[in-house]
Amino acid sequence: MGCPVRVEIPEFIKQVAAGDFVAAARIIKTTNSLPAVTGRVCPQEDQCEKHCVLGLKNEPVAIGQLERFAADYERQAGKIEIPELAPPTGKKIAIIGAGPAGLTAAGDLAKLGHEVVIFEALHKAGGVLFYGIPQFRLPKEIVEAELDYLKKMGVEIKVNYVIGKIKSIDEMMQEFDAVFVSTGSGLPYFLGIPGENLNGVYSANEFLTRVNLMHAWEFPVFDTPLHAHKVIAVIGGGNTAMDAARTALRLLSTEKVMIVYRRSPDEMSAREEEIRHGREEGIEFRYLETPVRILENDGWVTGVECQKIKLAEPDSSGRKKPVPIEGSEFELQADAVIIALGSGTNPLIAQNTEDLKTDAHGHIELSDADFQMTFKEGVFAGGDIVTGAATVISAMGAGKKAALGIHNYVMNK
Ligand code: FAD
Repeated sequence: MGCPVRVEIPEFIKQVAAGDFVAAARIIKTTNSLPAVTGRVCPQEDQCEKHCVLGLKNEPVAIGQLERFAADYERQAGKIEIPELAPPTGKKIAIIGAGPAGLTAAGDLAKLGHEVVIFEALHKAGGVLFYGIPQFRLPKEIVEAELDYLKKMGVEIKVNYVIGKIKSIDEMMQEFDAVFVSTGSGLPYFLGIPGENLNGVYSANEFLTRVNLMHAWEFPVFDTPLHAHKVIAVIGGGNTAMDAARTALRLLSTEKVMIVYRRSPDEMSAREEEIRHGREEGIEFRYLETPVRILENDGWVTGVECQKIKLAEPDSSGRKKPVPIEGSEFELQADAVIIALGSGTNPLIAQNTEDLKTDAHGHIELSDADFQMTFKEGVFAGGDIVTGAATVISAMGAGKKAALGIHNYVMNK
């Protein structure tokens, strides 16, 4: 209970207690194909650990840590086995987007005997696991090991391949028996205030991509265009803001990092653990303040003009509404601003694909949610492109359901 992919928690913990860590990892892997990832990044306090009966009187069992340990043990002991694959079905499946939804679907479809090709827009597969979540939370070697595992199962991964530009879904349907769209929700939102186009302003996604994928942290060995900033203001109060702030703090040139959040600590959506780590590492948290203008000198950021906020009755989000206090403007000195307000869907594929229905937010609509089937024949979709920004484990759950739906569809076509 509490695990979106229904890991057999008591069973795997029994094996850990008995000292058979490989057996524990294999039990987890019957339903969760990326346990070394989820053991690190799942919000366990709201999922499995929330339902642990020990937690009623005491601390819950650290299920996430045990999952991570068992998966790491299996990998480090060289005990990962490539599963037996069903005989080839002769069916070809295309997956668009190599994040957790696409990777999970690919693994399950390969096991069922299908030929699977993943098309990824970036030069590296992994989705947010690679370009977004920082190394100190999820080492890239773990994502690499998962990609390697898929390749050993025969999955082909084509990178630098933007579907919607290089090929349309209709063109792909002539070559493949089914298509799974798992392109995520990576289009950043901005504040819409003066100065957002200045040098030194980044979306959190761009900033994290420059560090995680383009080696900005290895400057000057890698000449990535990330300026050597000293004082960085991160705008937002979610997990992405925390990742950006903690990453900024680790860059060699950084002297100070501030989180600027318009509500109070109680309303922050970031995990408590992340906020605690951020505090311990020395991030300055500034609450009840909102930027109104980014200040400049010669096209470069020099600071942020902010306004103080008071909280009113809860708004439609259920959180107290932030109301700016007239005349409370003040200036914060900073030479970089990272905007971490969340992200929406990239409209590219939906715009270029007839019959693919989307809602007002651009999320792909499903005709059968049990199998992630869209309104377009032979096209399935899952992960953040359907739900909006969510979690790794929910994207994996959608990948699993889609694999089953695609299997039924191509075998009965
Ligand atoms: P993604 O992981 O976004 O992958 C989509 C992939 O599709 C990308 O690689 C993209 O390049 C590719 N793509 C997009 N368009 C195209 C196209 N036209 N053609 C080809 N490829 C395309 N969740 C947690 O559970 N725990 C966390 O700790 C956590 N931390 C996060 C930190 C950050 C900074 C961010 C941004 C998100 C975080 N999340 C976390 C959320 C989680 O990562 C996402 O919910 C999850 O990755 C969604 O998976 P997905 O497969 O749907 O999409």
